[in-house]
Amino acid sequence: MIVMKFGGTSVAGNTQIDNVLDIAKTRLDAAPVLVSSAMAKVTDGLIRISELASAGKKEEADKETDDLIARHIDVAKAFLSGDNLVAAIQQINKLCGEFESLVRGMSLLKECSDRSYDKILSFGELLSTTLIYFRALERGFDAEFLDSRDFIKTDDNFTCAAVDFAETNAKIKEIVKPKTNKLLIAQGFIGSTDEGVTATLGRGGSDYTAAIIGAALDAKVVEIWTDVSGIMTTDPRIIAEARTIDKMTYQEAAELAFFGAKVVHPSTMQPVIEKQIPITVLNSLAPESAYTEICSEVPEKGLKAITKKKGIILVNITSSRMLNAYGFLSKIFSVFEKYKTSVDLIATSEVSVSMTIDSEENLDEIKSELSNIGVVKIEKDKSIISMVGQELWKDPNFISDVFKAAGKTEINMISMGSSETNLGIVVNEANSQQTIIDLHKLFFN
Ligand code: ASP
Ligand code: MG
Repeated sequence: MIVMKFGGTSVAGNTQIDNVLDIAKTRLDAAPVLVSSAMAKVTDGLIRISELASAGKKEEADKETDDLIARHIDVAKAFLSGDNLVAAIQQINKLCGEFESLVRGMSLLKECSDRSYDKILSFGELLSTTLIYFRALERGFDAEFLDSRDFIKTDDNFTCAAVDFAETNAKIKEIVKPKTNKLLIAQGFIGSTDEGVTATLGRGGSDYTAAIIGAALDAKVVEIWTDVSGIMTTDPRIIAEARTIDKMTYQEAAELAFFGAKVVHPSTMQPVIEKQIPITVLNSLAPESAYTEICSEVPEKGLKAITKKKGIILVNITSSRMLNAYGFLSKIFSVFEKYKTSVDLIATSEVSVSMTIDSEENLDEIKSELSNIGVVKIEKDKSIISMVGQELWKDPNFISDVFKAAGKTEINMISMGSSETNLGIVVNEANSQQTIIDLHKLFFN
């Protein structure tokens, strides 16, 4: 079997959904499970609606809700007819009825718990897959609609629930039965707790769903269909010459995803690594164009991609007490642990530690507690530019090339793990664009 996951822009409207089904048709012999995101911008819209409703802005929330429902009904009308249209509208109305009463409740109570938020967000994927399913029937596919909440089992950490893999794998094997010439259709992103309460896996989580299903069923491949031609050497919106990376390792892909390349969700690699199931990243708008394969071993070493993560805060602690003292780092990290803030990059000298974080939440508290340990300096509006590849240190010219290209700007920090997959430099956000242009030119042109 294979898993094919389609992102929001791939299912943005009736023509795009037909395009998705054209692609699925070419893979029916591989017993596909199709996993879909919500239609483009729908999840953002649902978030806005829950914010408006819980802020008591009922009229605005109602207006956005009506628009969102109309958008789905319009797609149904555009490509369905007869019994399929009737059944689809019925199903859409049922989902939207639940959705509307939830929004009404939020407006009344002027609150939105994480639990209600997840329930609201789940309608995006439930609606998109309803449309895909009925269109598949209309076009004569042998199709089956699956509710992912029946088999993606999670804890109750709503908005970013953790998957219970033992439960989930067993349920997937029991419920998801791929078959040649049959199209199974399931939602990405959503699951449910022990008690059957709807939970989501965090923004962008549909890729993760696809990988979970693929790993549970020993898929031949997990295909991530998006609107760009695979993973690129850098963001093509910054640099037109960016090109598709042919092959990369799970580790490289995870680093890239975490450090800013938005193509694949960072958790996606985790379920498939053990079984060595390849992930391919393809363009649904140009199915024949270049794509990227992610697997465990890739012969090409050296630099593969340059990526950027902005909104970075640099935290610097200097203390002469650090000299020859043990337990110093653990004191620092216990502060971050206390405020559930994760540190991305770190560099230390004998008397100072530099770290990056990507959230301002609790920053004042963190600063004040760290001040008990040393002199704290906080700098905002930074970017991490990450250079990801394999065996980066092996090339003696690598680091000097980096400085040749990036040296025109002030570098605040450098961090390179011993795995040699990622060299991160921290620069001012304002200079980051030019730095990437210079680096890309030197390494890839
Ligand atoms: N629809 C969800 C989101 O926009 C999940 C996904 O698209 O992967 O975050
Ligand atoms: Mg996505």
